[in-house]
Amino acid sequence: MKRFIKNFIAQINYLFKNQKVPDILNNLNIETTSRCNLKCKFCAYTKRDLNVVPHETMSNDFFIKVVNQALEIGYKNIGLTPQTGDIFMDKEIFKKFDYLDQNKILEGYYFYTNFIPLNHDKITKIFDLNKLKNFGISIYGHDKDSYQSFSGGAESSYYKLINNLNFFYECLLKYKNKNLTVEISQRAKKNFNLNNSNSELSTILKKILSLKNVEYSKNSEFNNWGGIVKEEDVKELDIKLNDTQKKKIGSCSLIYSRMMVGANGLVNACACRDANFTLAIGDLKVNKLNEIINLKNKKYKDLIIRQEKNDFPDVCKSCDFYKSIYQDNDFIWSFRHEKVKHYSLKDTLKTLEKR
Ligand code: SF4
Ligand code: SF4
Repeated sequence: MKRFIKNFIAQINYLFKNQKVPDILNNLNIETTSRCNLKCKFCAYTKRDLNVVPHETMSNDFFIKVVNQALEIGYKNIGLTPQTGDIFMDKEIFKKFDYLDQNKILEGYYFYTNFIPLNHDKITKIFDLNKLKNFGISIYGHDKDSYQSFSGGAESSYYKLINNLNFFYECLLKYKNKNLTVEISQRAKKNFNLNNSNSELSTILKKILSLKNVEYSKNSEFNNWGGIVKEEDVKELDIKLNDTQKKKIGSCSLIYSRMMVGANGLVNACACRDANFTLAIGDLKVNKLNEIINLKNKKYKDLIIRQEKNDFPDVCKSCDFYKSIYQDNDFIWSFRHEKVKHYSLKDTLKTLEKR
C-alpha cells in the first residue's frame, strides 16, 4: 500500500514536472581501487566483466588530477567507496587522504569499508584525518560461520575483523574528543537481532555501539545489482533479494547526483549499482570532467532523455536501487544530518549545460 501511494504521488509529480534532484554539485564518487579482499555472495564483485572493469588501483597523480577537475567544476564532497572493492586495498590511500585533507576548497569526504585490509597503525591514523566527514563499516553475517558464508572470506579474515574492531573500540575511547562519526552497517539473515546474539562479533559490536557518535543499521534485504545477483547466489543466506520489477517513473536521481569516476578513468552515470560501468558516459583519459558531465556530451544527454521517457538501459531496467527524481528519497547516509538542496530538472540541466 505504502509503495502504491509513493508511486501514485510520483506519477502526479511526473505529470506536473515536479522534480527533486539532489544538488548535483554536492558530491562526486572517485573509485581509488576496484580490488576487494572478499567475495560476498550477494555482491556483483565476482561477476564483473574484467575486460571493461579490470581489478586496478588509481595512481596518486591521476587521483589528484580527478580531484582538481572535480573541484574546478564546483563539487563540494568526495565519496571514496568503490562501485565494488574496498578502499583499503589501495596501499596508497593515506597519500590520497592527505591530498584531500590539505585541500582548502573541499568540504569533506566519506567511505565504506569492510574494515579488514588495514592494520592498527592505519586505524589510528583515521582519527587524524581532518576532512573525513564520517565513515561506514560493513559487517557481513553475525558469527564466524555466517561471516564466511556471506563474505566468502577465510577464517583468518574473520579474526582480523574481530581484532580490528577491538582495537577500533580502544581508539574510540582514547580519541573520544575527535568526534568521528561512524555507521556500523550489518548485513545479516532475516530476523537476526544483535541483542540476542553473543558471538565474539556481536559482543564487540555491542561494545562499539554503546559509544557516542556510532550509529547502527541492520539489513536483510539485498539489492540485485541490475539482475546480476540471482536467487541461486544467495540461497543459503536466509535473506531477501529484492525483485527486479521495481516500478520506474522518470529518471533516476543517481545519474545526476551520484556519479562515479572509476579506477580505470571511466566516468559512470551511476556510482552504486552498475558494476560493469554500462552507463559510462566518457573517459577521463581522453576528455576533461567538465566535458563529460555536460549536457553537450551526447551520451549523457541521451541517457537523461531516455530515462525521462521511461526507456531504461538494461542495468536500470531490473535495478531495485533506482531512486526516482519524482519521489522523496533518502540521500546518502553521510549527509543525513545536512540539508542537501533539491532542484528542478530544468535548473539541473541548465547547470549541466553551462560547463
Ligand atoms: S560487498 Fe563489498 S566487501 Fe563484499 S565483495 Fe562486494 S565490494 Fe567486496
Ligand atoms: S536505476 Fe539503478 S543502475 Fe540505473 S542509475 Fe539508478 S541506481 Fe544506477
